[in-house]
Amino acid sequence: MKRFEGKTVVITGGNKGIGLAMAERFSAEGARLVLASVEAQVEAAADALKSTGAQVLAVLCDVTDPVAVRRLYETADATFGSVDVSVQNAGIITIAKVEDLTEQEWDATLSVNTKGVFLCCQEAIRQMRKSGRGGRLINMASGQARDGFIYTPHYAASKFGVIGLTQSLAKELAQENITVNAICPGIIKTDMWDYNDRVWGRMLGDYGPSELMASWVQNIPMKRAGTGQDVAGLAAFLASEDADYITGQTINVDGGLIMS
Ligand code: NDP
Repeated sequence: MKRFEGKTVVITGGNKGIGLAMAERFSAEGARLVLASVEAQVEAAADALKSTGAQVLAVLCDVTDPVAVRRLYETADATFGSVDVSVQNAGIITIAKVEDLTEQEWDATLSVNTKGVFLCCQEAIRQMRKSGRGGRLINMASGQARDGFIYTPHYAASKFGVIGLTQSLAKELAQENITVNAICPGIIKTDMWDYNDRVWGRMLGDYGPSELMASWVQNIPMKRAGTGQDVAGLAAFLASEDADYITGQTINVDGGLIMS
């Protein structure tokens, strides 16, 4: 019997990058999947997983829209009969000097990265309480939830916020068999990181493509960038019975880059 057979896992931002790697990991371990994102590309990602025999539902959902988020979790429950694990992974970043950072960028970043995590937790909890099966909430933070980087005060604030809401919900839900934990990825090679490499690279010096990333990787004790699979391994552990007694924690997946 596979570890997540009979369990339903919702993953926001599940169509690419870290979210897709987690989807692949959970489906390989038998989970039924609900993938949510704003672009129709999520349907192609779901189709690719279905072709491997997985049970997958794709839902278009903007995590900043409370009505859409409620519909996402109600649809997950109506389709598969429960919501057992919810991974709040959707996220955005922009990079700008303080004098250029707009109110719109600030609001959008906090809205997706922090409010979106909260709204998804709230609706997942509603379904988990209804089923009485308990559940696992896994929130995607960042190395920037430990140590704010230059030119991203809005992103750092949004990710520090994820740790705060994770701890608060963990305390509220501790007696309901619902655990809440956060993950802090370091440098993970995805579209988001390609953007970071390009824009930080331009702003911090005359770096060519991948040169900034290569120089930052030199600061990682393990001397390699991370992969979506590295993050997926931790998500699967936190969703498993092996993590029954772990809640309110924030764990780095970064090859030792940040040790606090
Ligand atoms: P990507 O840019 O590759 O993917 C981001 C995902 O979030 C996409 O699926 C995107 O969907 C989805 N998304 C964005 N906005 C919304 C929204 N309003 N509603 C629903 N879905 C949305 O990023 P990564 O895979 O790299 O990042 C995943 C998470 O990990 C993010 O929270 C990020 O902050 C965090 N992280 C990443 C690191 C890295 O080095 N890559 C480091 C630390 C943290 P769509 O394609 O439809 O727009």
